[in-house]
Amino acid sequence: MSTDALLDALHERLGGRGLLRDPADMARYSVDWAGERLGQPLAVARPASTAEVSATVMLCREHGVAMTPQGGHSGLVAGALPAEDGAELVISLERMDRVREIDPINFSMVVDAGCILDNVKQAATEHDCDFPLSLGAQGSCQIGGNIATNAGGLNVLRYGMMRELVLGLEVVLPDGRIWHGLKALHKDNRGYPLQQLLLGSEGTLGIVTAAVLKLSPRQTQSRTALLGLPSVEAVIALYGLARRDCSDLLSAFELIPRRCIELAMEATPTLGDPLDDAYPWYVLMEVAASGPLDLGAMLEHLLEQGMERELVLDGALAASDAQAQQLWQFRESMLEGQRRRGEHLRTDIAMPISAIPTFVERASTAIMAASPDCEIIAYGHVGDGNLHFNILPPAAMADADKHAHLHELEALLFEVVDEVGGSISAEHGIGRTKQDAYLARLSPLERELAGGIKSLFDPAHALNPGRILPRP
Ligand code: FAD
Repeated sequence: MSTDALLDALHERLGGRGLLRDPADMARYSVDWAGERLGQPLAVARPASTAEVSATVMLCREHGVAMTPQGGHSGLVAGALPAEDGAELVISLERMDRVREIDPINFSMVVDAGCILDNVKQAATEHDCDFPLSLGAQGSCQIGGNIATNAGGLNVLRYGMMRELVLGLEVVLPDGRIWHGLKALHKDNRGYPLQQLLLGSEGTLGIVTAAVLKLSPRQTQSRTALLGLPSVEAVIALYGLARRDCSDLLSAFELIPRRCIELAMEATPTLGDPLDDAYPWYVLMEVAASGPLDLGAMLEHLLEQGMERELVLDGALAASDAQAQQLWQFRESMLEGQRRRGEHLRTDIAMPISAIPTFVERASTAIMAASPDCEIIAYGHVGDGNLHFNILPPAAMADADKHAHLHELEALLFEVVDEVGGSISAEHGIGRTKQDAYLARLSPLERELAGGIKSLFDPAHALNPGRILPRP
């Protein structure tokens, strides 16, 4: 059957707003966040309900057409980007953006998968609750995408990743059937945890259409500090101290190298140098709580301890919310500063927290030996053992050579990750860009089990084919 017949049937089922076929209308669904990779959708379906998602999937199945679920399109491993051959139908969840229900007593809320994370957070706040997932892309990423990638972010050390923040799911399976798993239970030990298979499956096992999210009591106060430190060893020692000294109220502990402070100031010229002197490493940390606790005194005590032990050389403690926001602005602007440097290697690796100093030392030595003119930018969520060890190619290198060069450096870097018992993907997933490195590290048994799971859910490999596992 021709794809025209499918598109006509989809148009009839979804209506004019529900199906985009014009290349100009499809442009924004066809390019990744960094603007570095292009895909070519057959068309873009924009269902407005779970029933419409199911109907879309059933029609695709009938016509033998592959599908790519797409959320906010902020993923960094090309998972939501349709293949270049124009054979995949993009299914965008963007019209399914309703907060269905909030239960502040049960600390839960039910949302459509297309809800933008920022809007979910705002809705929770209005009911005196927090939805604690926070990340740089929260103004555009969607809950469905967060679930599909098992997203983490700034507050994982306190609240966990999406796996710990989802109570129930509604999913359209690759054959179009709807799995109704929207339970709002904080405890449920019935049989296999099916929803955990969907979390982090990157749209390869089903299309998430709604979720029950776990909320936390709203934090009514927080204190933020930016500290200057002499070494990564000092950062890790301070982290141990902070976890113990702050009654486990630490909600963020970000490692930032000096170069990132400079990139942030370049990207946002209104930002001045945050401390009187420049330091090789910085920590941006936050403690948050509700109730009558003196968080300021807690942080001051920690800083005194840190200075006495010569872990902290200087620090700025935000005295107001506005000042705290300004300190966080460094974290946000440094990403924009990197983006402006064009194509570079972005990684999201993980390792035991205690291995971070050894890793940074070994990886920096290996990369600089292989490419002395490149620039290393290592920052991350230290409390989760998660580093973005990014590499900017030599400024003088021709654009055409950068991709292959960065790929070689990535392979070197991943060898050091293996040496310290780490993971090549802590947050972004495998998608298409990390597939070779992922497969190279799978044991035959793991590969057999992973292949069995995919075949059980999607024997035809119709949903996100070629992501995580290769096409058969
Ligand atoms: P998309 O990019 O649209 O899709 C990602 C994957 O999920 C694709 O494989 C897609 O097919 C699948 N998918 C999307 N929606 C659905 C659905 N409804 N059902 C099934 N599959 C679906 N990630 C972190 O974990 N932590 C961070 O701190 C972080 N910071 C970031 C900062 C910036 C500036 C940027 C650009 C990205 C960052 N990311 C981070 C990565 C990204 O934001 C997350 O992976 C996010 O969860 C992706 O959500 P999305 O809606 O944009 O998904």
